Amino acid sequence: MVLPYIEPYKIKMVESIHKSTIEQRKTWIKEAKYNLFKLSSDQVIIDLLTDSGTGAMSDKQWAEMMLGDESYAGSRSFAKLEKTVQDLTGFPYFIPTHQGRAAENVLFSALVKEGDVIPGNSHFDTTKGHIEFRKASAIDCTIEEAFDTSVYHPFKGNIDLRKLEEVFQSNPVEKIPFTLITVTCNSAGGQPISMKNIREVRTLCNQYGIPLYFDSARFAENAYFIKTREKEYEHQSIKAIVKELFAHGDGMTMSAKKDGIVNMGGFIALKDPNIYKECITYNIIYEGFVTYGGMSGRDMGALAQGLQESTEFDYLKSRVDQVHYLGQKLVEFGVPVQQPFGGHAIYLDADKFVPNIAKQEYRAQSLAIELYIMAGIRSVEIGTILADRDPVTRKNRYPKLELVRLAIPRRTYTMSHMDYIAVALKNIYETRHEAKRGYDIKWEAPIMRHFTVELEKLS
Ligand SMILES: *Cc1c(COP(=O)(O)O)cnc(C)c1O
Repeated sequence: MVLPYIEPYKIKMVESIHKSTIEQRKTWIKEAKYNLFKLSSDQVIIDLLTDSGTGAMSDKQWAEMMLGDESYAGSRSFAKLEKTVQDLTGFPYFIPTHQGRAAENVLFSALVKEGDVIPGNSHFDTTKGHIEFRKASAIDCTIEEAFDTSVYHPFKGNIDLRKLEEVFQSNPVEKIPFTLITVTCNSAGGQPISMKNIREVRTLCNQYGIPLYFDSARFAENAYFIKTREKEYEHQSIKAIVKELFAHGDGMTMSAKKDGIVNMGGFIALKDPNIYKECITYNIIYEGFVTYGGMSGRDMGALAQGLQESTEFDYLKSRVDQVHYLGQKLVEFGVPVQQPFGGHAIYLDADKFVPNIAKQEYRAQSLAIELYIMAGIRSVEIGTILADRDPVTRKNRYPKLELVRLAIPRRTYTMSHMDYIAVALKNIYETRHEAKRGYDIKWEAPIMRHFTVELEKLS
C-alpha cells in the first residue's frame, strides 16, 4: 500500500481558534455591513480571506528573526536577502519594499504614464489600481479557456498571443511601457502560465520592442505546476525552473507575503541599471532607504530563508496537495468549483452555485456571507464587487466569472480543517435553492471599493 500524504513538518506552536454560533455570526456580519473585511479575526473560525501574510514561519525563519541586523544602511540582513534574490531570479538589481503593492507603486512611478496601456493575464486588483490611478489602462489578454470553469486546461493563466498582438498593433509602442505576466494568475483562479507561453510572449514582446515584467507573488507555485504539467521540465529542479522563468523578464515585483512565506514584505528585482536608479529615488520617498525599503532587518532575514523553503519541491507538493484535497472533496460533493484547481486557493463558481440570486445582487458576495454565517469560514468575493466600476462610465463591470475564493494560508491549517470546510459547503449547497435575494451597495469608495464597501441585505 502507498503511504498516505503527510505534511513535511510538525507543529511547535499553536494558536487557539475562537468558536462561535450561527446567531452570533448573524449579528456580527450585519454590524460589519456585510463586508467580510470588516469582521474581527476573533469572529472567524477558519480564515480563508487570503493566503497573503497569513502563513506560518518555520523554526529556521524564526531563528533569522534573532539574527536580524537593524542597521539603517548596509545591514547583513539586506545583504543576505539581496544575494538570495539575485541567486534565485538572476536579476542583478534588488530593491526591498514593505509589500507587493509598494513594489508596484515604486516601479510604476518610474515606468507608467497617463494614457499608457499594459497588457497582461488578468492583472491583480492592486496592480490594476496602481495602473488606473495613473490614468493608464490594464488590458486582459488571458486565454478564453480561463473563463469557463468546466473546461480543463493545464495552464489557464496563459496569455492569448493573438489578443496580445492585437494590443501591440492597435497602440503606439511608446504607449506600452511593458507587458505584465502574473505568476500564478490570481484573478483567474490561481492558474499557472506555462514556460512555453512565457517564451512565446517574450518573443512577441521582442518583435515589438516591448519589455516584459513579472508580478511574481506565487512564482514558486507556478514553477511547481510547470514541473508537474509541462513534460520537458519534469526532471528539472524548482530552483532551475524559477531561474529560467525570470530569465525571460526585464524585472519583477514581488509580494513576499505569498511565496516568501513571511507576514510582511516585498521587493523589486531588475535587469536595467537605469530603471533601477529611477526606482531607488521613488523607493526612498515612499518606502525607505534602499537597504531596507520598509522592512526591518529581521524581516529581511526571515524572507531570505522563506524564499529558500518555498522553492523546495516537498514543501510545494504538500502545499498544492492540501489545496487539491479540499477541491477534490468539493467535487465529490457536487459543489461547482473552478477546475483545474489553482495553487493557493479553491474557487467556488457562484453563477452555478446560487443562480437564483440576480447578478446585480452580487451572487458571489451573497455566497461568501452565507458560508460565514453557517460555518464561521471567511472567504472572499472575486466577482462584481471586486471588478469595480468602469473608470469612465462608472457602471458596474460584470466579470466573466463570479467567484468565491477559499485561499489556503501556507502551513497554517490541517487536513481536518479542510474536511470542516468541505462539509460546510456541502450543507449550503444542498439548501441552495432557498437563497433567492442578495445584497445592495449602500456606500462605496471611488477606487478598490471591495475593502470598505457597505452592503444592505435585500428581502
Ligand atoms: C498580493 C498580490 C499583490 C499585492 O501585494 P501586497 O503584498 O498585498 O501588497 C500583487 N500581485 C499579486 C498577484 C498578488 O497576489
